[in-house]
Amino acid sequence: MSLPIDLPVLQNWSCHNCGGCCRQHLVEITAAEKDRIEKQRWADDTALGPGTPAVVPLSPRQKRWRLNQRPDGACVFLDENGLCRIHAKFGEAAKPLACRVYPYAFHPAGKNRVTVSLRYSCPSVVGNRGASAKESAQEIRKIGREVVPKKKQDYPAPRISAHESVGWEDVGRFVTALDATFDREQPVLHNLLTAVFWMSIVDQAKFEDVRGKRLEEFLDLIIAGAAAEVPDDLGEFDPPSRMGRLQFRIRLGYYARRDTAAMMATGLRGRWRLLSAALGLARGKGQLPMLRDDLPRVPFEALEQSFGPLPESTDALFARYFRTKITGMHFCGRAYYDRPLCEGLFSLALVFPITLYLARWIAAADGRSTLSDDDLAHALTIADHNHGYSEALGSTFATRQVRQLMTLGDLPKLCVWYAR
Ligand code: SF4
Repeated sequence: MSLPIDLPVLQNWSCHNCGGCCRQHLVEITAAEKDRIEKQRWADDTALGPGTPAVVPLSPRQKRWRLNQRPDGACVFLDENGLCRIHAKFGEAAKPLACRVYPYAFHPAGKNRVTVSLRYSCPSVVGNRGASAKESAQEIRKIGREVVPKKKQDYPAPRISAHESVGWEDVGRFVTALDATFDREQPVLHNLLTAVFWMSIVDQAKFEDVRGKRLEEFLDLIIAGAAAEVPDDLGEFDPPSRMGRLQFRIRLGYYARRDTAAMMATGLRGRWRLLSAALGLARGKGQLPMLRDDLPRVPFEALEQSFGPLPESTDALFARYFRTKITGMHFCGRAYYDRPLCEGLFSLALVFPITLYLARWIAAADGRSTLSDDDLAHALTIADHNHGYSEALGSTFATRQVRQLMTLGDLPKLCVWYAR
């Protein structure tokens, strides 16, 4: 029987061998994969370099393993042509599962039901390049069968808010309503603000016996009300507050940083570097700190001016991004630090101004004060890399930060401010 799996129907993808994933990710492997790689006898192969182990401990205290990296963060198996040595020598099936799954992400979506999202850290995902999900259905299902535990488990539905839970069927109603919010004939920013507004009502609501059809009617009502609240002229929004900007810049640091194994191995020195970068972001004066090679230093001030109209690709790109993350349950529950739907949606919404800020940074470093489609695409690969995956974004501090940005009313203001 085939796995009941909801395909990411809005998204095309095929691997274009850019090797980016093999340069960005720490690849954790299982004990069985460690054994398999050791049996491949890479120690006798000169390709990895003398004395370079293929597999190293994930951390000194844990009995977990990862693929070794070169000092620049690239996997030791990545060759000079951007191809995988394991794949070339032993075939695709010999690679660790994590490498074969990427950029797909499989999440529970109901009782014995799985849904699929994609990671936008892959440029081919951002560019929507390759085969459709329908064309790749067989391959996606094959990987899914390996990822999803054999004994299917009934994962509990994610909570709706800090104090409200409903079953999977009603969670499905919220997800359908969110997806529909981004499917309206409106600019994506308008749809995003509408989604944030109606989810902020849900965040405060008590559902008691509002379930099924009644829940659908309630959602229809608040969505219509929220859409009417978003003004056509977004110039009516105030700029974000000082506190909102401060929290935003600190959060930006979590998205912009790139942690390679070599950097983490520098211990105290590496932590000091991150701390001084965080202090620099908190001050918000002078030059932005150096967090990664493709984001050189530029003055903070340069990123606060207007960058004019958003690039042409913005609406289509972000509508696809939000809808893929929402229908793929890639924004809450197991995929997002076990956070409820509301908080997950607010955190996902913040990816919009974070991406625009990073795009401004890329453009300013190139001496421009307008954004191109390429700036936006590059910025989204950076922003989505850490979303849901960095430990810092799952911390209590990061959770409070999102809450504070909502309480201050700064989250919608940040979306509008960096879109101007
Ligand atoms: S094992 Fe191969 S596919 Fe996996 S990260 Fe290394 S080079 Fe890339």
